[in-house]
Amino acid sequence: MAKLAGPLEIYPLLPGTNCKVCGEANCMAFATKMAEYTVKLRDCTPLYEEEQYAKKRVKLEELIRPPVREVTFGTGEKAVSIGGKLVLYRHDLRYTNPTAFFIDISDALDADAFAKRVRDIEEWTYVYIGQNLRLDGIALRGVSKDPQTFAKAAKKLVELTDWPIMLCSLDPKMLSAAANAIADKKPLLYAATLDTWSEVGEIAAKHGLPLVAYVPGNLNDLASLANTLQAMGIHDIVLDPGTLSRSGLGTTIDCFTQLRRAATVKDNDVIGYPLLSTPISVWADYREGEAPELTKWDEVLTAASMIVRYSDIVVLHSLDMWTNLPLTFLRSNLYTDPVKPVAVEPGLVKFGDATSDSPVMYTTNFALTYFTVESDIKQGNVDTWLLVVDTEGMSVQSAVAGRKLTADKVAEAIQEYDVEEKVNHRILISPGMAARISGETEESSGWTVKVGPRDSSGIPKYLQEKKWQEE
Ligand code: SF4
Repeated sequence: MAKLAGPLEIYPLLPGTNCKVCGEANCMAFATKMAEYTVKLRDCTPLYEEEQYAKKRVKLEELIRPPVREVTFGTGEKAVSIGGKLVLYRHDLRYTNPTAFFIDISDALDADAFAKRVRDIEEWTYVYIGQNLRLDGIALRGVSKDPQTFAKAAKKLVELTDWPIMLCSLDPKMLSAAANAIADKKPLLYAATLDTWSEVGEIAAKHGLPLVAYVPGNLNDLASLANTLQAMGIHDIVLDPGTLSRSGLGTTIDCFTQLRRAATVKDNDVIGYPLLSTPISVWADYREGEAPELTKWDEVLTAASMIVRYSDIVVLHSLDMWTNLPLTFLRSNLYTDPVKPVAVEPGLVKFGDATSDSPVMYTTNFALTYFTVESDIKQGNVDTWLLVVDTEGMSVQSAVAGRKLTADKVAEAIQEYDVEEKVNHRILISPGMAARISGETEESSGWTVKVGPRDSSGIPKYLQEKKWQEE
């Protein structure tokens, strides 16, 4: 992979005052974290505030620049950043900036249908392991082929939503009209081609907007176009090498892989930009009157392949729960840090109006375990205390086997989170999977341990029937 800067290269370019403003003990500690990209250079504020460090800062920014540049568009809290990738393979470090999902909307819709689609896009959400899975932005397509209609729709869109917008048309006049109308919202312009680069490049440069370079199926020409746009002063570039589905999907995956490999492994600066795919293109073959399910399935399949193979932004048409749910799950799993367990904070959690007579259960702080247990307790609708033991993000069975969940740890958690002050009984409900440490837990904690269900789906019945109170 492209060589990422190490702490010894970073350290000499820091102020070296060990002032701790960044929250680290000294500059070396900051340099070590910077090399792992777990802190941001901006956290070292002296670098930005004191003129004497200006030259060092410029050198540092270049030294730590990711092989794939980061491009941000939209404004405010909803602005989306794509790219910024450091590695080809997730296990080499981790992936940053999850693939952004943009859903299309046509400028030819009537006012009611337009507003409804915006609402539907914004409201698509699903709670998964404590995360609120959502879509990221709206791709306005110039179906009308009329610049004024397109500009009007762009204006309407910014009235209706503060989400990031992509303006989609291959006609420079359309892009110019819409960019003039909403440039302050920093939309992503789609797209400059080999035929239109000069006109579209000027629009992007004039407004300081990020721009997609689109050359289907020819990576050399795409690289050349990116180079030309950069020479025009456009630095926020996104590459679209074209998206084919079905029999062409293999070719598309090859193109995306070559581009990402060249940027991250061969350090090819010319194409070190985020990649955009258009699974929406499957709808070009759809004929009115056909059942849409197969086309939706094609779109999901194409999008899933592109998310896995380096697409930093996907443009989609389908807005069903069943189409976007697997894609958002896939994204969520791909973009978790492989070396960092998905964990929640340990502690004592109160469900409902738990009182001193309410049952006390315990579980581990592995996020999937915690949220499953949380959901089952809520389903049981019984006021309950849940003690979340720190097992470094391991599930119950693995934590018991790996000695991350021990009787002493449970006893310590009871003390640390003041459980004895919250309840007037001393009965602890253990996960069924931790049954084998229940005897030791009684000895360590002085509590009576009742073994709960092996599968957390049994929790509602267990609590409702007050089984923990049985002899
Ligand atoms: S803020 Fe900068 S100068 Fe101060 S300790 Fe951190 S890295 Fe060093």
